[in-house]
Amino acid sequence: MKALQYLNKYFWKYKWRILLGTVFVVCSNVFTVYAPQVIREAVNFLNETYSSFQENPDAEQTLDLPESLQWFMDPQVANVDNLGGLMLRVALALGLLYIVLYFVKGVFSFLTRQTIIVMSRLIEYDLKNEVYDHYQRLSMAFYKRNNTGDLMNRISEDVSRVRMYLGPAVMYTINLFVLLVMVITVMLYIDAELTLWSLAPLPFMSISIYLVSSTINKKSEAVQKQQSHLSTMVQESISGVRVLKAYNRETAQQETFADQSDLYKVKLLDLVKVEALFMPIIVLLVGLSTILTIYIGGTKVVAGELEIGQIFQFVFYVNLLTWPFASVGWVTSLVQKAEASQKRINEFLLTDPEVVNTNEAPLQVHGGIAFDNVSFTYPDSGIEALKNVSFEIQPGETLAVIGRTGSGKSTLANLVARQYDVTAGQIRVDGAPIQDVNLYDLRAAMGYVPQDVFLFSDSIYNNIKFGVDEANEARVVQAAQDADIHENILGFAKGYQTLLGERGINLSGGQKQRISIARAIIKNPDILIFDDCLSAVDTETEEKILSALKRIMEGKTSIIIAHRVSTIKHADRILVLDQGRVIEQGTHQQLVDSEGTYADLYRQQLAEDRA
Ligand code: ATP
Ligand code: MG
Repeated sequence: MKALQYLNKYFWKYKWRILLGTVFVVCSNVFTVYAPQVIREAVNFLNETYSSFQENPDAEQTLDLPESLQWFMDPQVANVDNLGGLMLRVALALGLLYIVLYFVKGVFSFLTRQTIIVMSRLIEYDLKNEVYDHYQRLSMAFYKRNNTGDLMNRISEDVSRVRMYLGPAVMYTINLFVLLVMVITVMLYIDAELTLWSLAPLPFMSISIYLVSSTINKKSEAVQKQQSHLSTMVQESISGVRVLKAYNRETAQQETFADQSDLYKVKLLDLVKVEALFMPIIVLLVGLSTILTIYIGGTKVVAGELEIGQIFQFVFYVNLLTWPFASVGWVTSLVQKAEASQKRINEFLLTDPEVVNTNEAPLQVHGGIAFDNVSFTYPDSGIEALKNVSFEIQPGETLAVIGRTGSGKSTLANLVARQYDVTAGQIRVDGAPIQDVNLYDLRAAMGYVPQDVFLFSDSIYNNIKFGVDEANEARVVQAAQDADIHENILGFAKGYQTLLGERGINLSGGQKQRISIARAIIKNPDILIFDDCLSAVDTETEEKILSALKRIMEGKTSIIIAHRVSTIKHADRILVLDQGRVIEQGTHQQLVDSEGTYADLYRQQLAEDRA
């Protein structure tokens, strides 16, 4: 139960609820335990009245009323004539009392649920928020290491399993203890030997239910896995339907799906077989208890050691204990499941983000960036993406980065945005090491357009104003105009309120890139980073965007990553990267004059453009 100890802080937070819940459990059980006593009194009353009238049919007799009725019914004198009517009144009164007892018990059970089960929901809410909050703080490297499905499962499936421990498991455990103590005390008070006999089969029930529940858990895990496999498959064939059809894979896909469905069916039937054991085990063992109670109790009645009503009371108690004993096994398996889930949750919660903010002092960014011998190796793949890179950008300058695919351009941008920390060397922002400046202020001062555009399933308006809290319509429109997407947006029926993503419209690659650019420039950042963000627009649009950007970039530090020389030739400095190294560095004219890789690339692209 080590992993579950993590949750103790929440129990502490909601301690008053647990306490109140326990009080309600005790109250509800007082009535539960009292009700069978009414049954005993009823049986004894009938039995005694019947035998005494049989012995003495003609005499008038004062009825020996059941104890539970004595405080509101006067002593009754009965003779043969009014006996029937009196008996009926007593029976009705007892029946009514029984119903009232169960009603009050029900009210308390309801209140128990309202406190303990509601508490488990509250903790579930807190825990989900805690996990989500932690997810937000973890760095890129963490997201590379773990897949999305796993991250989603831990915040949904695993948290719900933990909730089963926080709610039902806790509630049934408290209930079990309270009920056991009360019922067994009453039973022992009536007859110790009979108590032992009638309870003897119940521990076997706990053990068998535990075994069955554990098997059920294992098998349902397999079913669950197969089910998520199936849904992933369906999801992929829906989202990849274009590829699927283009390659004529419909039939093949159908066959694979049928096979997997079949496997699911087999696993499910396997589970159902074990589940079917659950009730028979309970019924069998409770039946055994009842038979033992009646048999042993019967012999004791014959011997004059017990009243006949007490046997009835015992049978009721045995039945009352059925579910609590069964729940021991069930709860144990719940706790085991919760333990495993909490362990998985803790694994993430106790992961520290690699990139952390070390400086709370507000940062005023001017835009000077320097790389001193920076090397970077991706922690997960071990690929050294940058090797000994050095350069310097003065505030307000534009740096362009060009190079073959895989040469490390995006990595360089990631490091400037401090998505990762460098492996060796140092990056300085306005002279201070990047690790020592306020991370959040640094990112706030940056407009970063990543290479793989990501748009949320939300309106275009909200996608553009994403990074700023206090954006107004005028700013959004201005940003869209600068990114040359305004006209396009007006072309949609719902304009800026057009929804994007799954249930909205699909944009072309170039439109997406321009929305992504608008999102960056609306921030009015001090440092702009464009990672290959004009790759999907035609040369004419590129010209338009570049000339709009020129105005925005005025006086701001910018890093432009591109494949086309045309995009970057006006930059103050150009870096040419190859396999993680800077192989050339200078202005466009200097690089063309030096007749190196850049010059070759330039001539080649000029020729292509002419063609
Ligand atoms: P492109 O022009 O295709 O965008 P690039 O110059 O931006 O290429 P990078 O994305 O910086 O190239 O990649 C440099 C190297 O680092 C590549 O060899 C790539 O395989 C590796 N790499 C990139 N991202 C990761 C990552 N998240 N984890 C591990 N390795 C990575
Ligand atoms: Mg890249």
